[in-house]
Amino acid sequence: MPSRVLLEPKIEVQHGAEGHWFWRGGFNHCGEPVFRWEPPTGRASICVVARLLVHHDVAPIPKGASVRSQCGVIACINPAHWMVETLEERAAKRRGFKVYGQVL
Ligand SMILES: [Zn+2]
Repeated sequence: MPSRVLLEPKIEVQHGAEGHWFWRGGFNHCGEPVFRWEPPTGRASICVVARLLVHHDVAPIPKGASVRSQCGVIACINPAHWMVETLEERAAKRRGFKVYGQVL
């Protein structure tokens, strides 16, 4: 996983009430901000920036979970504007239920 420091030159922080962080790098075909990481050893990979920032700044993301924008601004990668969503939560939402407590 790339260091957060590698991302910072491509982040433009919006000061003000909304506090969006605009990504000035590339986007994938889905419109998600992405970062091409080339580790010193190993293969290059394309990383979803919001996922990296949530992992670095908020908490490690559980295996199988995804992140979802809450502010709706496509270029915003402020980790405070994203939420972690587990597979169970996504599935429950599709069925119209909420998940409370631990899913067994
Ligand atoms: Zn935002």
